[in-house]
Amino acid sequence: MDIDKIRISSGSAIALELLTNRKIDTFPTTCYLMTYYSGKCTSNCSFCPQARTTQGSLDKLSRVNWPIFQFNEFLIKLKYMRPSRKFKRICIQTLNYPNNFKDIIEIITEIKKETSIPISTAIPPMNKNQLKELKIIGVERVGIALDAATEEIFEKIKGKGVKNQYSWKEQYQNLIEATKIFSNSSVSTHIIYGLGDTQEQILNLMYELKKYEILTALFAFMPIKDTKLETLKQPNIHNFRKLQLARDLIANKDRSLEDITFNSKGEIISFNINKQELMNIIDENIAFRTSGCFNCNRPYYTSTPSGPFYNYPRLLDDQEKKEIFNQLKNLVKF
Ligand code: SF4
Repeated sequence: MDIDKIRISSGSAIALELLTNRKIDTFPTTCYLMTYYSGKCTSNCSFCPQARTTQGSLDKLSRVNWPIFQFNEFLIKLKYMRPSRKFKRICIQTLNYPNNFKDIIEIITEIKKETSIPISTAIPPMNKNQLKELKIIGVERVGIALDAATEEIFEKIKGKGVKNQYSWKEQYQNLIEATKIFSNSSVSTHIIYGLGDTQEQILNLMYELKKYEILTALFAFMPIKDTKLETLKQPNIHNFRKLQLARDLIANKDRSLEDITFNSKGEIISFNINKQELMNIIDENIAFRTSGCFNCNRPYYTSTPSGPFYNYPRLLDDQEKKEIFNQLKNLVKF
């Protein structure tokens, strides 16, 4: 085995008892792993601390720290984890660098020898043969992040606007191609709200991707120190709640874009649901929690532990439900 090191999100490392001097109030339900690479990513996404032209910390992805551990030690901890903390999913991500695919394959192969926990990968675009190989070795789900909802914003933040190798057309095509290999709703993408796309543009894309059974996870932009976008503000929480509700209607309730009304700026101004339906959605405890693969809760990726929680990593309490109801009640019918 060539792999000797791996990066593990600090929350996952605490759950694995690899980090013992730290405490957290919400444990991750997924084990978040990142391939170890000694340098920066060869890509240059403007929100990312791993981008090749940033001075950002190599230990960070999003606002989370990813300390380095011995891979063997990780495998042992994973195998003998306390049943109460056992992960329900493992998610492996990689930066762009030469040989990243070889590293992913080796990591997954070794993990598969120790556990049957379902595995997701969050990867840069890969060719058909690579996707097939991931499927053959037992990857259950694959995620290819668009991050933006339109070609204009994509090119600006992770395409030619930042001298990156990605293009909207290729990335979108790659995502669709992945559904031919990973069928049965096993392909995901991420969209970040707050980069410049309107709510209407984001929902149009989600609706379009749903036709291919692609699951869209929604995140709020979070500025990270030393990245190109470090001075851009997080989006308004009320606007994010509207988008979460709209996402839930489209992704989980089979509603269409006709059930959402937008103004001329592409902002949501009303929903074709009544107050009881809104209460039921809030009580269901899905719409305002982290979206993505099943059992992915990503604690504190885009929110600080003191809040506000853009995506709740756990069940909402009664007070939190009430706050959300009050934020949205004037946008629905009586
Ligand atoms: S490809 Fe991923 S890790 Fe690399 S710069 Fe873009 S977001 Fe960051």
